[in-house]
Amino acid sequence: MYRLLCQWAGGLLLATLLLQPARAVDVRGIRLWAGPDNTRVVVDLSGSAQHSLLLLHNPERAVLDVSGARLGKSARVPRGAGAVKAVRMSRSPSGNFRLVLDLARPIQAKSFLSTPNAHYGYRLVVDLEGASRLANHVDKPIKAKHAPSDARDLIIAIDAGHGGEDPGAIGMNGTREKDVVLAIARELALKINAEPGMKAILTRGGDYFVPLRDRMRRARAQQADLFVSIHADSIRDRSIDGSSVYILSQRGATDEASRWLAERENASDLIGGVSLDDKDDVLASVLLDLSQSASLNASQVAAERVLHQLMQAGEVRKHEVQQARFMVLKSPDIPSMLVETAYISNPQEEMRLRTAAHQAQLAAAIHQGVHDYFYANPPQGTRIAQLANANSSRPVLATAAGGGGAGR
Ligand SMILES: [Zn+2]
Repeated sequence: MYRLLCQWAGGLLLATLLLQPARAVDVRGIRLWAGPDNTRVVVDLSGSAQHSLLLLHNPERAVLDVSGARLGKSARVPRGAGAVKAVRMSRSPSGNFRLVLDLARPIQAKSFLSTPNAHYGYRLVVDLEGASRLANHVDKPIKAKHAPSDARDLIIAIDAGHGGEDPGAIGMNGTREKDVVLAIARELALKINAEPGMKAILTRGGDYFVPLRDRMRRARAQQADLFVSIHADSIRDRSIDGSSVYILSQRGATDEASRWLAERENASDLIGGVSLDDKDDVLASVLLDLSQSASLNASQVAAERVLHQLMQAGEVRKHEVQQARFMVLKSPDIPSMLVETAYISNPQEEMRLRTAAHQAQLAAAIHQGVHDYFYANPPQGTRIAQLANANSSRPVLATAAGGGGAGR
């Protein structure tokens, strides 16, 4: 009976679809974001639509056909950038909306339909990726000139949240999280690069989208000693303000361990170059656990230092380091923290976040926390270890509090 009913319902649905005149979907806009590794083209639609993507050669181009779509009045065609030399529009032989992307080089492409979220309606996303990705692209850390050859610089990965088509949280006055966190991240990078023995890398250096796992991969490709993700929070209650600092929860860490173990190839170079490929499951999980709990301990200690500095600088929402299952914090072998610098939903904080002075103040607080952490827990073989040693032989105020958990 049930089956009959379903068949009948299915037939009815099909009939309705056939009877209904195909309603045109408007193309409301075309947006393009170019990053160093990938270029994303987003086609905003007034409703859901079928599409197809085709790669053609000589000359290289990507062709996107959208069934039953037409160009809306307000839609503008963006200029080419990144992997896309030019964007053109035409009609496919069957009368569908067609977008042609002239490409600068042979490229891999994928497309998908995104369903509406808080900021956008239906949209087709085309991701174009060059053959030489990530590891090939990132430049090797440069040793500072003043560093003796036997000591390396610390690498701090700074991750500005969101970017490109993902604006993050938006304040009442239109301030976008992706913009203010990038400004703070850049400021933080300047301060870190100005310090002997430390070098900053940015996981995102402009207004483009970087997938979360790519952010982690970039940090790992550079063998970062610390990963700091910068965000600005939002909440319905607009009176709430202040910053908070997060590390990965134990639960999130456990989940991630199983994932890494499932993907042996990825896990192979995780633990200081110890390959997991030829280890049995139990040994592999023990090795990963050790690496992970050392990272979590170090994350906690480093996050406490940063939180302490943020307390000196201004309003703090939670006086203890918080734990959550943020994807971007899941590198098993890099101590990681996420700083919610402020509540962009609070109008006063939103206005402050827009000022260069406040951005610099937040960056200074995070920098000081990172500095204090590494001087209290300097990794062996680093320039900071030598500097910290030299400092401790002088009769100055010791900064040993909160140390001991680094375990790297
Ligand atoms: Zn965010």
